[in-house]
Amino acid sequence: MTETRPEKAQRLVDEEQVEIVETDSFATSAFVQGDNGLYAVLLFASGRFNCICKWGTIHWNTDDLCAHALAVKLAMERKDKPC
Ligand SMILES: [Zn+2]
Repeated sequence: MTETRPEKAQRLVDEEQVEIVETDSFATSAFVQGDNGLYAVLLFASGRFNCICKWGTIHWNTDDLCAHALAVKLAMERKDKPC
């Protein structure tokens, strides 16, 4: 079964594989434990991203987020919500 990127991102968040390192007004940096290793992800306030994964090396600096960057985004949205 092949997961879509949003499905994979949601799974990574549910499995708590996202570790947010730092957030400021410019960008959020995080580590995401993916299926094939640990990925360093930067998610910019502009909506663009940078990730060291295969998708990221092709699509970096666009808003076409890889699963890892999407997971960081989801994790941040979850964190902002009151419990
Ligand atoms: Zn990635």
